[in-house]
Amino acid sequence: MKRGLYVGRFQPFHNGHKAVIDLLCDEVDELIIGIGSAQMSHDIRHPFTAGERVLMIQRVLADAKIPVYIIPLEDIKRNALWVAHVVSMVPPFDVVYTSNPLVIRLFTEAGFRVESPPMYQRQELSGTAIRQKMLEGGDWKQYVPEKVAAVIESVGGVERIRDISRTDE
Ligand code: NAD
Repeated sequence: MKRGLYVGRFQPFHNGHKAVIDLLCDEVDELIIGIGSAQMSHDIRHPFTAGERVLMIQRVLADAKIPVYIIPLEDIKRNALWVAHVVSMVPPFDVVYTSNPLVIRLFTEAGFRVESPPMYQRQELSGTAIRQKMLEGGDWKQYVPEKVAAVIESVGGVERIRDISRTDE
């Protein structure tokens, strides 16, 4: 039994994340998806709530061939203690999948096995680029699974991003 942990902010969950998860479903028996910065929402880098991100991922992975546990993880102010915080919140795991340099560093120092999955079209498939497209009225939907686009539309996500980037001037 091999259980893997994949951590991300998923603001929003996009086709790059989905491609990685498809790969991981062939590598592990069970997958934990940790939704980082769970306390954040309604700001330009973190427009979606933890619950909305759970919905995006749950809908996309409804037919996953292995058990998937989706667990929101609030940030804490001490990086040195973050791995212990994560461990306290999720089921036991054997390997961590991430390409985020800080996350790699923290889990490696804590003695965990860490692997970095391949990157897919990093230029277009990035939360920053997709949020920018939403802001500018570009075609963002091609970069996220259809079910994610439906969740974003159902919560008025594009209007939210535009509203929170305005000023009162
Ligand atoms: P993210 O959503 O940007 O990315 C998630 C994963 O997907 C990353 O491994 C990333 O490299 C990968 N990815 C992104 N685009 C991809 C693509 N096109 N193809 C393939 N893979 C792609 O999330 P993140 O920023 O890595 O999330 C880390 C989380 O951990 C954050 O929420 C952060 O706050 C949290 N964290 C918290 C603390 C603390 O609280 N002290 C410390 C460290 C990390």
